[in-house]
Amino acid sequence: MSEQSSRRTFYVETLGCPKNAVDSDKVVASLLADGLAAADRAEDADLVVVNTCAFIDAARQESIDTTLALAGQRKPGARLVVTGCMAERYGAELAEALPEVDAVVGFAGEGSLATSVALDWPKRKGAGSVPERPTGVRDLLELPRPAPTAPWAYVKVAEGCDRACAFCAIPSFRGKQRSRTPESIEAEARALVEGGVAELVLVAQDLAWYGRDAGEPGSLAPLLRRLDGLAADGLARVRLLYLYPSEVRDPLVSTMLELATVVPYFDLSLQHADARLLRRMKRWGSGDRFLDVITAIRAQQPDAAFRSSFIVGFPGERESEHDVLLEFLAAAELDWAGFFPFSSEDGTPAAEMPDAVEHDLALEWLRECEAVQEPITRAARDELVGREIEVLIDMVDADGALVGRTHREAPEIDGVVTVHADWARPGAMVRAHVTEAIGTDLVAKVTRR
Ligand code: SF4
Repeated sequence: MSEQSSRRTFYVETLGCPKNAVDSDKVVASLLADGLAAADRAEDADLVVVNTCAFIDAARQESIDTTLALAGQRKPGARLVVTGCMAERYGAELAEALPEVDAVVGFAGEGSLATSVALDWPKRKGAGSVPERPTGVRDLLELPRPAPTAPWAYVKVAEGCDRACAFCAIPSFRGKQRSRTPESIEAEARALVEGGVAELVLVAQDLAWYGRDAGEPGSLAPLLRRLDGLAADGLARVRLLYLYPSEVRDPLVSTMLELATVVPYFDLSLQHADARLLRRMKRWGSGDRFLDVITAIRAQQPDAAFRSSFIVGFPGERESEHDVLLEFLAAAELDWAGFFPFSSEDGTPAAEMPDAVEHDLALEWLRECEAVQEPITRAARDELVGREIEVLIDMVDADGALVGRTHREAPEIDGVVTVHADWARPGAMVRAHVTEAIGTDLVAKVTRR
């Protein structure tokens, strides 16, 4: 038997947001470091790990459904471990509810997933014998990650959140913000760039707050300057996700617009546009203030792209406040926007608030938001037809076409660009002429490398 075939194998299934994808990368790295080998399919693995999402009801249901499906698919004797946000938030409860699962493991603690939780056990154990606080992987933030497989990669610069948005449970289970040091982020970034990554996507629960917990507010701009130094090694783009709007000001904005590597893509976490409702959400801002921020950036960089997400049907939301949101969307002309019906999260202030909005009404409002936003997004894409764009080739799709993104599209979130060129490969940065917009996607012909 070869060494490879005698090694225990693992399979990691990731649900939820980009921050979870980084955690999964680090889980993979820790399992590889423990001597396990990656399996291509859950059915072949000795250890199946589900990295769950607990963001809203639908995400939790998807996490449970996926876990149950994988429980059915695994081979006899394989261990099934649930980790991620649901494990952190509902640990013991989840272990009780899912007897199919061998362990429910949060991300805090000592030891490693493979050695202390799953594979050292003499035989599979039921929920009744799962330790109440099973030991999990170490703090994932500082763990190494496997070699990159795409020309872009998420880099998590901090974990946790210091804010107290009324609808959000994240601070209750991810804790206060803990920022990594610039040195450790740069080291991870350098390794990724040396491994072929051209675009780094920086993520955190509250990215613009980076460094404040270490007594150094405003650290994001200097971090961007530090990462810009990797341009000589092949770093082409740095993209920022999740910017709390009150922090989108100079020197961060001027630094973003000045540095050649930082793309003018502003992922503003707005949630609503009505000032009274935002106060009820315990958040900063108003539609007018947001418009001021957006207008000022566009005045400096007309090609800047904007994304945001909004909660529809927050407790106490009135028709007039919903109208404020619709007016804001029409005025802001964001390139991309996502709308989510309010989801009541146990233990949050919003869960105790009176005047719940009927779910059907929230869905009706959501459709109205989409009806305003969709033509705006489409028009922004149509306007690009005939223009020259710069595309980072991400992959070759199943039809053999090259698929990539400009600065306007975040990976896995926004549209894509299909380009035609015989010579280009994933990782190449090419100039291309946009010939067509199909929904949110573009088709382009390469003009030069
Ligand atoms: S800033 Fe984001 S993660 Fe932090 S409490 Fe608000 S919604 Fe939650």
